[in-house]
Formats: sequence, C-alpha cells, structure tokens
Amino acid sequence: MRYGLLLFDEPKRDTSRKIIHIDMDAFYASVEVRENPSLAGKPVIIARHPKETGGRGVVATASYEARTYGIHSAMSAQKAYELCPNGVFIRPNFELYRETSKQMHNIFRRYTDKIQPLSLDEAYLDVSTNYIEQKSATIIAQAIRRDVEKELRLTCSAGVSYNKFLSKIASDFDKPNGITVIPPEKSHEFLMALPIEKFHGVGAKSVEKMHSLNIYTGQDLYKKDELDLVSHFGKMGHSLYRKVRGIDDSEVKNDREPKSIGKESTFSEDLKTENDVIKALRILSQKVMHNLKRKQKHGKIVVLKIRYENFDTITRRRSFPDYIKGEEELFQIALSIWEEETSALGVRLLGITVTGLESVIFETIPLPLWEKKATERKPDRDENQTRTDH
Ligand SMILES: [Mg+2]
Repeated sequence: MRYGLLLFDEPKRDTSRKIIHIDMDAFYASVEVRENPSLAGKPVIIARHPKETGGRGVVATASYEARTYGIHSAMSAQKAYELCPNGVFIRPNFELYRETSKQMHNIFRRYTDKIQPLSLDEAYLDVSTNYIEQKSATIIAQAIRRDVEKELRLTCSAGVSYNKFLSKIASDFDKPNGITVIPPEKSHEFLMALPIEKFHGVGAKSVEKMHSLNIYTGQDLYKKDELDLVSHFGKMGHSLYRKVRGIDDSEVKNDREPKSIGKESTFSEDLKTENDVIKALRILSQKVMHNLKRKQKHGKIVVLKIRYENFDTITRRRSFPDYIKGEEELFQIALSIWEEETSALGVRLLGITVTGLESVIFETIPLPLWEKKATERKPDRDENQTRTDH
C-alpha cells in the first residue's frame, strides 16, 4: 500500500495561521471596462471576435453581464458569439492585465510579503504576522479590498480562514465583491454542507466519479474512510480525506519576484592593485545589470560586499533618489563605495547587489489615468520593499 504509512497519522488541525485568498472579479473584463467606461453594463467578452479569427479562439474572461447569457471563460469564442451576438468582443491586452496585477501585488505587500500568486488575478496571503500588526485577518482583507477599489477601481472577493483550501473556497462563496470568513469553529459545518463540485482541486471527471460513489456533499465525503478514498482517487483521496476535516498544512509559498539581484566573485588570487579591483567591479556591474534587464527589474539601493585576505567582510549600502540606469552608473557607484569605505587591497571577494527592486514595466507603461496615483503611492511601496529586505 503506497500510502500506508501516512494512514497511521491521526490528522490534526492546525488553526493557528491566518490566510486570505483574494480573487479579482471578472478581472480582464473589469480592467477593460475601467479603461473604457462606455462598456459598463454591457456583455464584455475578452476574446478576439470569431469573425476575425474564422471561429477560432477561446473566451479568456466574460463580464458578469455576459455570464447571464451562459458565457464563461474557456468557452469557444464562436459559441459565445452564438449565445450573445451583441456581445462586445475585446482582444486581450495581457500587458495591461499584468501591469494591473503588479499594482495589486504592491497593495498586498503593504500588509505582508508572504504572497503566493495563482494567476494574474488570484493570490494567497499569509497574514499570521503582518506589517500593520493587525490580529484580525478579516480587517486586513477588508482593507485590501478597499485599497484595490479606491486605487485600481476594480473589485475583488476575499476568503479568510486558517488554511489555503478553506480561504480559496471562501473567496468564491460571495462573488463578486464579497468577503467570506470561515473561522475554525465554523469550518466543519461549512464543509459538511459544501457540494462536492465546490471542493477546490476536484475536477469535472472526479466529480462524476464522486457522484457514482454517492458522494455529493462534504458530509458524504466525510463519511468515507481514508483507505477507500485512496483506492479510488490515489493521492488526491488522501488529501481530500484531510481537507474535508479542515486540514491543509500547505504553506503560502512566496512569489518568485526577486527582491534583490546580485553577483559576487571570489578571486583565485587576492586583488592587489586598484586596477584589479576596478576590473572586477566592472565585470560584476555588467553581470548584475544584465540580470536586472533580463528580469525587467530596477532598484535604487546598491550594496557592495568586500572580503579581505584575512576574511574580514564588510557590506555597505547606498540609497539613491532615482533608479540605477546602466552598468556604467552601477560601476561608478560601486567604485565610489569602495573608495569611500576603504582603499585597502588584498581583496578576496567582491559582490554587488541592487536591491529594493521594482518592475521596470511598472514605470514605463503609460497609464494616464493611474500614473499620478502610482507616483503618489511610491513612498508606501518603498517602505514595504525595504522592510522585506530585512
Ligand atoms: Mg478571478
């Protein structure tokens, strides 16, 4: 029995964490309506018009008005057209959605840096500890919803609970523009009443299989023993057995957005002349700038690390009012830090890091409506960014 060992674990419920799941409402469609208010109230379908594509193409998102015609994401654009010939088809502008998603994440980062995006418009946030020292995750979720609405003019739904599974289900419960809280003492009742289709991770095929096993609700699932579930659903059976008991210990995995990009070199022979140091700093600046460009990041803080032949190590940071623009500028900064801090030679290691990073795209995409606001918000973002560095 492959899962035999796990079965001996008496599952325990950890209710100590505070997890929020945020899900934007009809995200792409809402962004388009925001950009073009004359679309408000119309059935907006994010897909190229089937007449343009010869019937190919798939609906990325449908506004709530379009959904009343039975249109949903992943439906063929042709089918959507047949259901609603007067629908407004809009070719997706992913650059704009990505940009808006970044602004969303900048809001999240005011509260926590434990953020796991699931897609452009959805993320888990672990706010067990948070920057505003707020004990109530519900208050934080409401604050985020307010920030998003005020600054991005978009609505989102939030789910609040003590694990990812429950918070994800909760955010879907009162959509759009709603919040659902599942506290530990309510989770059992909530799960027992939940239709099996609503269990996150149970796909259409598994739902069919569940129904054939007479499982229609959480209550039905709860009654099945673990071995039984594992024999029918493999690994998923094991996790469902736990989930229906309100157990999901999976971590909120931090997003992979780098907070700093750096490069260091240990030299096979200690650097003995100023010229050697200059050469090394040039190469490091080049490499760091190359990586920053590749990741479309830039920052205003430069950290220089120096290790001497006796293994003494110092790191020095400098903050600047503007983003460091190119390798020459980075090199000059690194060199001046080195000159100011020490002229000692016998250098064993050098490292250059640019930190407090932000996406270049955030600064360069012209968004006339939001530009001013974005600039006004800058001190907040920088403050949080610095916090996450320490
Ligand atoms: Mg969504």
